Amino acid sequence: MRSHGTSESFVKMPTIKFTKLFINGEFVDSVSGKTFETRDPRNGEVIANIAEGDKEDVDLAVRVARAAFDHGPWPRMSGFERARIMMKFADLVEQNIEEVATLDTLDAGKLFSSLKDYELPDAIKSLRYYAGAADKIHGDVLKMSRPLQAYTLLEPIGVVGHIIPWNFPSSSFFVKTSPALAAGCTMVVKPAEQTPLSALYYAHLAKLAGIPDGVLNVITGFGPTAGAAISSHMDIDMVSFTGSTEVGREIMKAAATSNLKPVVLELGGKSPLLIFDDADIDMASDLALFGFSFNKGEVCTAGSRLYVQEGIYDEFVKKLVEKAKGWIVGDPFDPNVCHGPQVDKVQFEKVLSYIEHGNREGATLLTGGKPIGDKGYYIEPTIFTDVKEDMLIVKNEIFGPVVVLMKFKTMEEAIRRANDTTYGLAAGIVTKDLNVANTVSRSIRAGTIWINCYLEEDRDCPFGGYKMSGIGRDLGLEALHKYLQVKSVITPIYNSPW
Ligand code: ADP
Repeated sequence: MRSHGTSESFVKMPTIKFTKLFINGEFVDSVSGKTFETRDPRNGEVIANIAEGDKEDVDLAVRVARAAFDHGPWPRMSGFERARIMMKFADLVEQNIEEVATLDTLDAGKLFSSLKDYELPDAIKSLRYYAGAADKIHGDVLKMSRPLQAYTLLEPIGVVGHIIPWNFPSSSFFVKTSPALAAGCTMVVKPAEQTPLSALYYAHLAKLAGIPDGVLNVITGFGPTAGAAISSHMDIDMVSFTGSTEVGREIMKAAATSNLKPVVLELGGKSPLLIFDDADIDMASDLALFGFSFNKGEVCTAGSRLYVQEGIYDEFVKKLVEKAKGWIVGDPFDPNVCHGPQVDKVQFEKVLSYIEHGNREGATLLTGGKPIGDKGYYIEPTIFTDVKEDMLIVKNEIFGPVVVLMKFKTMEEAIRRANDTTYGLAAGIVTKDLNVANTVSRSIRAGTIWINCYLEEDRDCPFGGYKMSGIGRDLGLEALHKYLQVKSVITPIYNSPW
C-alpha cells in the first residue's frame, strides 16, 4: 500500500540551519567537539551532524541558566511582560510553521500535513495558553486562627531540566517549556537524539522573540550522557520528563540520589479501548484504527488493547481489518498517506520483533505484520487476535502500529481486564449508554478517559498517568503549578481588633 509520491513533489526541502548546542543565547560546539548523525527514517540517510552534548555541556548550560534565574530579568519581570515575549515567540513559530513541520517530518517520519494542521498549531497554543496565565500567578491570603497576617507567594521553582521524547518533538517541547517560561523559570532542554532539529530551531526563534540569554538552553545529545547529567545535576531544581517507563525510573533514581529534585514523569502506556454492543461499528472501527495507527503507533496513549463486546465482535473485526487494509503507509510528506516510517532502525526492529513474538506465541495475525518496501522503516497496521492476557504483545508497550483484539461479555469483565495492566495513561469507551460510559470512566484507573472519541486533547486539559504511566500532569493550570513553589509569609498583628 506504499504511496509512490516522492517528498520533493510535495514540499521544499529546507537547509538545516541549526546543528549546534544553544547555550546563553549562542549556538556553540560541544566541549568535546563530538557530533552525532540524525537520520531520515524514510531511507536511513544522514540529514545532518549535530553537536553531541555531554556532562560538561550540561554544566555550562546549567551555570548560565542559574545565573539567569538568580540575577537575570526573566523571573523578575512582570508576568505581563513575559507573556508579551511568549506571544511573540508563538507568532514566530507560526510564521515558520512550514519549515519546522518539514524538520519534524524529516527527523521523525511524522506526517507533514498533520504537523502543519494540528500538532504545530497546538504547540503554538501551548505558548499562548500559558502566556495568558503568566500575569495571573498569585498566592492566597490565609485565614489564621491566631492574630497573624499570612499569605502565600507563588515563586518559580528555579532551573528546570526538560527531557523530551522523539514521537512529538515539537508538541513536547512547548508542552514542557511554555508553563515553565510563564512561571519565570530558566531551563535546559534536551531533545531526543533521534529528533534534535526542531528544538534547535525553536531556540533560535526564542532569541528572536526576546527571551533573554540563558533562560532557554538546548543541549542535544544522548540519554545516558546528556540526559543523565540533567537528572543527576545538583543545581537543577526540577526535571520534567516524557519517555519510557524504564527511563523514567532511572530519572527518578538520579533525582533522588542527587539533590532530591522533584520530577514530573509522563511515561508509557498500554491503553485499552472498550467497544460495547450498542456502538456504531463504523465509527468505532475508525476510532480503533486511528487509536493504534496514528503517528505509526508511536503514541504513549495509543489504543493498543482493543476489547470488543461479543454481540458485535465478528462484524467489528471484519470492518476493522477492511479499514486497516485501506490505511495508506508511505512517504510522510505525501498528503494522502496515513502514516510514515517508524522513527529509526532501533524502533523499527523492536516493533518487528514484537510482531514475531506474537506469531511465535500463537496469536492469530489478522492483517499486517510486515515491513513495507526495501528502504526506510515502514510497517503495516498490524492486528492480532486469539491472544492470552499474559502474552508480551498484550502486556508490553510496543510503540508501533500493532493492536491486540479481544472479546468480552459483560461491562464488569471489560473493566477488570482493562485495569489488568501496570500502566494507567488513558482508556477509551465507545457506547451510546450514558450509564455504561459513566460507570466505566469512573472504574478505570487512568489519567484520561475518552468517551466516543480517542486521542482528543487540548491545552486546558491536564494530561498524565496513573500507576506506572507517570507522576504529575502536563497541560492545564495543573502543569503551571508544577513549576511554582509555595512560600508562606507570616507576620504578627498587634492589638488586632479581630
Ligand atoms: P524511547 O525508549 O521511547 O526511545 P526514552 O525514554 O529512551 O524513549 O527517551 C526519551 C528521552 O529520554 C530522550 O531525550 C532520551 O535521550 C532520554 N533518555 C534516555 N535515557 C536516559 C537516561 N538514562 N537519563 C536521562 N535521559 C535519558
